[in-house]
Amino acid sequence: MTQLLSSESPPTVPPPSADHARHWQRLEAERRFRLEQLAALDAEAPPTPRHESVQQALRIAATTALDEIEAALGRLQDGRYGVCVTCALPIPAERLDVLPMTSLCMACHYNEQNCRLAGSGRGGDGRGA
Ligand SMILES: [Zn+2]
Repeated sequence: MTQLLSSESPPTVPPPSADHARHWQRLEAERRFRLEQLAALDAEAPPTPRHESVQQALRIAATTALDEIEAALGRLQDGRYGVCVTCALPIPAERLDVLPMTSLCMACHYNEQNCRLAGSGRGGDGRGA
């Protein structure tokens, strides 16, 4: 007989609130906008090869944004919305108001940015041990 004693408490899921309904609406509106944008890009025949590469860049940007929006909607559905995917701390509502599709709190967002900058040549103070 195995008994699992978990000393870790599961992450607390915030109950659906008016705040999340607001973010859900924003995300749905963004999603519609991106889908329309992609449909318009597909419908439009590029007049020149240069236009075609611009269209391609726009399509990639719209697809990336759409992926982030759909991931955020998925987190809303399974109750993980508004919680940082890296450190599991709540993401402040003000941040979600500005970026409803974000999956990172400010600290983790900056950490990620710093890692990218450090990776491209700028030496940091390292992580220490
Ligand atoms: Zn975080």
